[in-house]
Amino acid sequence: QAKHAGRDTYRFFTAQMNAAVLARLELETALRAALENGEFVLHYQPKARLGDGRVAGLEALLRWQRPGHGLVAPGEFIALLEETGLIVRVGSWVIATACRQIRRWLDSPVGAVALSINVSGRQFVEGALDAEVLAALVENAVPAELLELELTETSLMANTARTIDCLRNLKRQHVKISIDDFGTGYSSLAYLRRFPIDTLKIDIAFIRDVTSNPDAAAIVRAIISMAHSLNLNVVAEGVETPAQLSYLRRHHCDQIQGYYFSRPLDAERVGELLLQGRRLAPPEPCDERRQT
Ligand code: C2E
Ligand code: MG
Ligand code: MG
Ligand code: MG
Repeated sequence: QAKHAGRDTYRFFTAQMNAAVLARLELETALRAALENGEFVLHYQPKARLGDGRVAGLEALLRWQRPGHGLVAPGEFIALLEETGLIVRVGSWVIATACRQIRRWLDSPVGAVALSINVSGRQFVEGALDAEVLAALVENAVPAELLELELTETSLMANTARTIDCLRNLKRQHVKISIDDFGTGYSSLAYLRRFPIDTLKIDIAFIRDVTSNPDAAAIVRAIISMAHSLNLNVVAEGVETPAQLSYLRRHHCDQIQGYYFSRPLDAERVGELLLQGRRLAPPEPCDERRQT
C-alpha cells in the first residue's frame, strides 16, 4: 500500500517536473527566436524633476511582443535570459536600439532626451561593454552624456575589478551611471563609492511603504541625505500617489519615476508626451504649510 502511494507520488512529481522543464525549454526556444525575429521592443518611462516638474529623462524598459501572447513584461523572461546567458545578446540589442532612438529624437522636434538603459552584470563579464557602448554612441553620433547605465548593487558586487575599469572608461567619456533598486542589496554606500556613480534609484519597495511604514520612511530619508552628502542625484522609483510624492518633495528627493507621473510608453507616445512638455503638477500650497 505504502509502496504503491510512494510510486504514485513519484510519478506525480516526475510529471510535474517534466512539465516545468518543458515549459522552460519552450520559453528558452521562444526567446532565442524572439531575438532573431525582432520581437523585442523598448518602452520608455519618464522621470520627472521635483524642482521644476519637468521631464529629466527616460528609462528604457524591455518588452517582448510574443506572438499569441501580446506584450510580455520582463518579469516573465529576464531571469531565463540571465540564466541562459542570452541577456548578453539581448543587452547588445538594447544598447543599439536605445542609441538609435536617441538619434531619432535628436533628428525630430523632440530634440535631446537623456535615456537610461538597464544593464546586466553578465554584460560586463562576457562582453567588452565599454567598447560596445562607445561604438553605439559614435555610430549614431549621440552625445555620451545623453546615455545612462542602470546597474544593480548585486551586479556591481559580483565582478569588481573588471566592472570598475569598464565603468571608469565609460565615465571618462561622460556616460552616466546609476545604481538601480538601491537599498535592497547588502552593499554600503562606502563600498559603492569605488564605482563612478552619478545617481541612486531608491527601490520601489521603500517608496511603496514610505507613507505607511516608519522604517521605510527612515530608510528613504537616510538614502536621500547620504546621497546628497556624496553629491549624488536621487531618484525615487514606483511613485504612485500624491502622498508619496509630497513626502519625497518634503525630503528633497531630486526626481521621481512612477505611474503617478507616467507609465512606461512606446516610443511614439513618449515622444508626444515630451513634445507636449508635460510637467509634474506643482505642490498644493496647503501641503507646504502642513509640513513639519
Ligand atoms: P527596474 O529597472 O527597477 O525598472 C522599474 C520597474 O518598475 C519597471 O518594471 C517599471 O515598469 C516598474 N514601475 C515603474 N513605475 C511603477 C509604479 O509606479 N508602480 C509599480 N508597481 N511599478 C512601476 P518592468 O518594466 O516590468 O521591468 C522590471 C525589471 O526588469 C526592471 O526593473 C529591470 O531590472 C529589468 N529590465 C527591464 N528592461 C531591461 C533591460 O533592457 N535589460 C535588463 N538587463 N533588465 C531589464
Ligand atoms: Mg532600472
Ligand atoms: Mg529599479
Ligand atoms: Mg528592478
